Amino acid sequence: MKYRKLGRTGMMVSEIGLGCEHLEGMAPADVERVVKRALDHGINFLDVFMPEPHVRTNIGKALAGRRHDVILQGHIGPIWQQGQYARTRDVTQCRAFVEDFLHRYGTDYIDIGMIHFVDSEIDLRAVFESELIDYVQQLRDQGVIRAVGLSSHEPVVARMAVETGLVDVLMFSLNPAFDLLPAEISLDDQLSGKRSNEQHLTGMSSERQQLLESCAMNDVAITVMKAFAGGTLLNAELSPLGVTLTPVQCVHYALTRPAVASALIGCRSEAEVDEAVAYGEATASERDFAETLSPTDGYSRQARCMYCNHCLPCPSQINIAAVLKYLDLAEVARKSQIGAAVPATVQEHYSSLSKQADACTACGQCEPRCPFAVPIIARMELAQRMFA
Ligand code: SF4
Ligand code: SF4
Repeated sequence: MKYRKLGRTGMMVSEIGLGCEHLEGMAPADVERVVKRALDHGINFLDVFMPEPHVRTNIGKALAGRRHDVILQGHIGPIWQQGQYARTRDVTQCRAFVEDFLHRYGTDYIDIGMIHFVDSEIDLRAVFESELIDYVQQLRDQGVIRAVGLSSHEPVVARMAVETGLVDVLMFSLNPAFDLLPAEISLDDQLSGKRSNEQHLTGMSSERQQLLESCAMNDVAITVMKAFAGGTLLNAELSPLGVTLTPVQCVHYALTRPAVASALIGCRSEAEVDEAVAYGEATASERDFAETLSPTDGYSRQARCMYCNHCLPCPSQINIAAVLKYLDLAEVARKSQIGAAVPATVQEHYSSLSKQADACTACGQCEPRCPFAVPIIARMELAQRMFA
């Protein structure tokens, strides 16, 4: 298992995490088996959103004696009301849920206190202009939570939250289909399966791209939910892309986006845990999503780098995807309010590459291999000027 820095929190999380939502309704012994298998594989990052009390008790038992081996992403905002999940911004209800959470998990801290499911500007204001954000900050000041997170499916709202400066970690729904669907498609529609013929794939929306880049610039780590788009990406019949991707390809897509620290995979059995962690042993060709995605409308015509490295090998040993990723970040920073200079963090990452754009000899071997028609040589020339 590989581990990545969770942005500015400095915590190190496994790049495959366990989304525990699917453990609801399972027998305690089965929950214990799944959690133990995940930990034995080196997974140390668990999203524990669930409002249902018994599953939290069961996971707490499964983690007994191993609490300090794991990083828990707990949520502030879900509650259990009359036998059902509900969402609240009421501080009294949130406090009761947090206290119950700590009790059931047998702990006195939550690593990431994630403000739950903020998808509209009205709701964003309800959180950030109310006593709820004061409560969340108190929890952090008291050490009850170690970092503040926020979960969202909506890129504009998520970016606004990130740019408050109060959010350390963003849980966001991220996969190639959501990146292509028109911005006005609702979350329910995104998860409902194949689009109608009228709903054309549009190419990566600027809102989503700007969100990823804002997270990278602000050192806010993204933890990924919906990496398989509710499973629809794994079946061409259901997928809005019309092609079948494998779980390994979906995970690789998520983990190669800017700012992403971990992909949270929901598992209900030990076998599903094994399948999720198989990503670590997958070959480059098994991970490669470019060949599969390139015929799909929306990706093929945007000539934007997807960071897939399908264009390698480069005789100059340049990691082309890495150079182009830092170039994209630098360009966005220049266009945004951050200022004209390349941000120091981006410059530092670029400088740490063993080969940079100035090693490009314009041999042209890479461009025919790029499924997305990226003008790599021109981009290398621009990177040289940008990072000079
Ligand atoms: S230039 Fe093309 S092949 Fe290379 S990393 Fe970018 S999208 Fe992939
Ligand atoms: S054109 Fe530049 S980046 Fe592409 S393969 Fe040749 S040296 Fe490498």
